[in-house]
Amino acid sequence: MKTLLISKKDLSYNIEKIKQMARRNGPDDNGNMVKIIAVVKGNAYGLGLIEFTQTLIQHGIDFFAVASPEEAIELRKAGIEKEILLLSPVCIETEIEMLLENNIILTIGSKESATMLEKVVEKKKIQPKVHLKIDTGFGRYGFLYNKPEEILKTLKECPHLEIHGMFSHFSESFSKNKKWTEEQFNRFLSVVEVLKLNEISYGMLHISNSSAFLRYPTMDLNAVRIGSAFTGRTIGGNFGFKKIGTLKTNIAEIKILPKGYNIGYGNTYQTKKETKIAVLPIGHSDGFGIDGTEQKFKMISKIKAGIKNVIKNQNTKVEMNGKMYSVLGQIGMYHTVIDITGNENLKVGQEVELEVRTVYIDNRIKRQYQ
Ligand SMILES: *Cc1c(COP(=O)(O)O)cnc(C)c1O
Repeated sequence: MKTLLISKKDLSYNIEKIKQMARRNGPDDNGNMVKIIAVVKGNAYGLGLIEFTQTLIQHGIDFFAVASPEEAIELRKAGIEKEILLLSPVCIETEIEMLLENNIILTIGSKESATMLEKVVEKKKIQPKVHLKIDTGFGRYGFLYNKPEEILKTLKECPHLEIHGMFSHFSESFSKNKKWTEEQFNRFLSVVEVLKLNEISYGMLHISNSSAFLRYPTMDLNAVRIGSAFTGRTIGGNFGFKKIGTLKTNIAEIKILPKGYNIGYGNTYQTKKETKIAVLPIGHSDGFGIDGTEQKFKMISKIKAGIKNVIKNQNTKVEMNGKMYSVLGQIGMYHTVIDITGNENLKVGQEVELEVRTVYIDNRIKRQYQ
């Protein structure tokens, strides 16, 4: 059995560090501090939706965001009464009804999503909370930044929608090239300006995700949407956060293979000498080897040999109990073989902790906060 271990102490450290950073600019003209919207999508980046959210609440976080209606409802079912923003627009009538009944803040990003919401609101006589999504160059949800007249027209046609917030999303705030992020930010401000001129209230403004929050203090606006920084697994450096989540498992088998012996699917690896191996019951299903979990020290060059892809020069490493070990052969769905030649301490059945990409870990695996 595997368990995903989550250190409460390390998580608390990350939360407090983020709270402290969010205070860096002091209060705004209205005396408000920057609000932290905790993004808990994807089963809270694999750390367990409910327990993760409850931990944040214990630290005073009172505003959450999710990516799907299912996640929003799951939070409500668990008795969480804080503000919940659904980041993706919904255009199905029955889904909108259910979300409104559960007091979820909805996002509108098009005339269609707005009109459908207006229809439900009129029918149900519920006052909804709505955030407007602006597409400043992500090419996904939202009103196009360069067509603000669409927003004005839509809002005019939907008099029951009270706008509590307006936001956009960066596509590469982690990048060394800062130009694009600045461009997106300015596009967003240009929309704000148009609404202001037309005396339309837009509520709280938010655009920064974790990497923008860490790299662009001037873009905090009224709120920041933080996900990965809580987990300490930000792209492009970890900014002093603690990595949260290690996979606890047991060594499944240890044996010695002779020189020239095949390991794994596709016959991509043969031992170069007599090799002591350990088999670990982890694989792609644990997010292992999918991307960036394990560290690759050499480029994997894929050479097409007939219909089969042969992976050459593979030098993937796994961090186990704080030490690095080489992965031998291809990582399987549930199994990985590592080189433990010369190691006399590791034993079959022994408990080990592995560095993993938590977001991909099967939701059936137990999350243990300790
Ligand atoms: C996932 C997501 C976030 C949080 O991103 P992180 O980089 O993990 O902090 C913020 N906003 C939106 C719209 C998202 O989808």
